[in-house]
Amino acid sequence: MKVILLGPPGAGKGTIAKALMQLDGSVQISTGDILRAAIAEGSDLGKQVEAAMAAGNLVTDQLIMDIMEQRLQQEDCQQGYLLDGFPRTIPQAEALKALLARLGEKLDCALELDIPREVIIDRLTTRRTCTNCGEIYNVKSKPPKVDGICDVCGNVIVQRADETEEAIENRLQVYNDQTAPLVDFYRDEGLLVSVQTSDLEPVVAAIRERLQG
Ligand code: AMP
Repeated sequence: MKVILLGPPGAGKGTIAKALMQLDGSVQISTGDILRAAIAEGSDLGKQVEAAMAAGNLVTDQLIMDIMEQRLQQEDCQQGYLLDGFPRTIPQAEALKALLARLGEKLDCALELDIPREVIIDRLTTRRTCTNCGEIYNVKSKPPKVDGICDVCGNVIVQRADETEEAIENRLQVYNDQTAPLVDFYRDEGLLVSVQTSDLEPVVAAIRERLQG
């Protein structure tokens, strides 16, 4: 399947993408993960985006499109892809549309996870991430067995630089200003599927219905 996951930070896009991958072997492509890996490597790309990301601001459309143009043409995308955190602005959505037309590909849908702001803030401020393997924890609902240590790989678990309250407020503002308009964009394209939950079962059911319909 070829699906865009839309929704504010913390809506559950990554978790849903990982579950949908199991259905048909589509790959999850998270632009946030690609950029975080570049920062961890200390590459030129990483140095370029580090400050904007830590503050919760978007990196430039050009930079993201350069990454995605290459990524979408890699072999593992043949089976389908779940775009997690991309596109994030109207210019990115327009550029993606043009790119897919050039590649002769069509999206199945844009899935919007429409989750209330209070839920998002609570989830993000309590989220912790392993610095090594990226496993996600939550201090309330999914604490690690040993405080501060990853159950999976034994490395240190931290609060992401962009998950402080200040950065989260900014990310939500950025989402409202720059990304939320994509909901209307994809509705106009006839591609929008909107759900008010990040629970797996109803989300998978909505996707299946769309793919079969
Ligand atoms: P995420 O993990 O999707 O919440 O992304 C984390 C951060 O990476 C964002 O706050 C942005 O700074 C940057 N980022 C990820 N995807 C994009 C995108 N499509 N356009 C611009 N910036 C992005």
